[in-house]
Amino acid sequence: MAQQRTFSIIKPDATRRNLTGAINAKIEASGLRIIAQKRIHMTEDQAGSFYAVHKERPFYGELVEFMTSGPVVVQVLEGEDAVAAYRGVMGATNPADADEGTIRKEFAESIEANSVHGSDSLENAEIEIKHFFTEDEIVG
Ligand code: ATP
Ligand code: MG
Repeated sequence: MAQQRTFSIIKPDATRRNLTGAINAKIEASGLRIIAQKRIHMTEDQAGSFYAVHKERPFYGELVEFMTSGPVVVQVLEGEDAVAAYRGVMGATNPADADEGTIRKEFAESIEANSVHGSDSLENAEIEIKHFFTEDEIVG
């Protein structure tokens, strides 16, 4: 497997509980490197377009409200097979289904307030990274 980059968000439920460092520790313990990071407050437009694939789902409005309810930390992670590796570190969408030791098992509050986002494909990772970072902000 090759070196890849993936996109991560530490969500508002986690920043509110001061868990940025604890989540970063899990990311780094897995061998992934945080090669870009910034704390932002997403606008409704940003959150709405980021989750546009879920526009028809019943939870879309609440999801946008949640993602704009406080600061988030957007990140670029780099490492071996990073897209799948980070999905593994995150755990299942619903923390009730997440494996022991994963970020969501340990920290998520609910299926919505589940502490982190990670890209679901290499193609989406590239799109999402470009959306939030310029090349000179990414230092590998
Ligand atoms: P993410 O895209 O944030 O990494 P994911 O890929 O595990 O999460 P998706 O199916 O893409 O899961 O859902 C995107 C986000 O929408 C979830 O992380 C969660 O915050 C929210 N969500 C998903 N399903 C539900 C649901 N049934 N009810 C409420 N919120 C949900
Ligand atoms: Mg997803």
